[in-house]
Amino acid sequence: MFIEVVGGSGSKNADSRLVCMKLGEKVLIDAGSAAFIPVEQLDSVDLVLLTHAHLDHILDLGFILDSMVSRRIRPLVVTGSEACLAIVKKHYMNGLLWPDFSKICIEGKPILEYRVLADEEWTDLPGNVECMAVPVNHPAGARGFLFRHDRNLVVYSGDTGPTDKLWRMANGQGEPVAVVIEVSFPDSKRDIAMASDHLCPSLAADELHKLGYEDIPVHVFHMKPWFAEEILKELNLPGKPVRLLKPGSRIEFS
Ligand SMILES: [Zn+2]
Ligand SMILES: [Zn+2]
Repeated sequence: MFIEVVGGSGSKNADSRLVCMKLGEKVLIDAGSAAFIPVEQLDSVDLVLLTHAHLDHILDLGFILDSMVSRRIRPLVVTGSEACLAIVKKHYMNGLLWPDFSKICIEGKPILEYRVLADEEWTDLPGNVECMAVPVNHPAGARGFLFRHDRNLVVYSGDTGPTDKLWRMANGQGEPVAVVIEVSFPDSKRDIAMASDHLCPSLAADELHKLGYEDIPVHVFHMKPWFAEEILKELNLPGKPVRLLKPGSRIEFS
């Protein structure tokens, strides 16, 4: 099993893609930049797992559905918390801002199927990987995830400010092999990070300490691109090796 980055930025400019990651060949984690995925690869995708309904995580959902409606007959399942899906339905795929693809049927089947993901229990996802959603400290129905393949566990923060339950739930669920954690702002903007329920390097260090494992590879994403250099300098501390996730970065965990 693997996570492969399509986009890993927490905002958008000419050099940055919004958050979207492949979880194996059949699942996407978020869909901010999903339209960058070649259509032949999108044909394999059965499910989009949303961390939450902020625009940087859902933007391209409408565009990949637009391409799928003329290419396939099976539905794309979109899953996430009840609050997250309610926002997507009401404010995006509502027949006004964009078509309601859950009402567009091809050969009798809707091209979009919403499925609420239960919190704090393991759910099987396509491609032989399990997922556990855990509420985190961020709006729009936000969830962090634990992903498990065999006994190997990846902890994925999604967007969050300081939180406890995700790190607590990770304990005893498997063998942690990687952490994917958001770092949106530099330490000089710690107050903005706190106010917007995000992390800066010092806050992320506190979060990783809560997990209690010292030697796990740490992968950072969701930087605001205009702060990239400042954040990278702060992350590059001796004894704290971290890797910045960019398009094409891959985390193997099988
Ligand atoms: Zn975000
Ligand atoms: Zn967000």
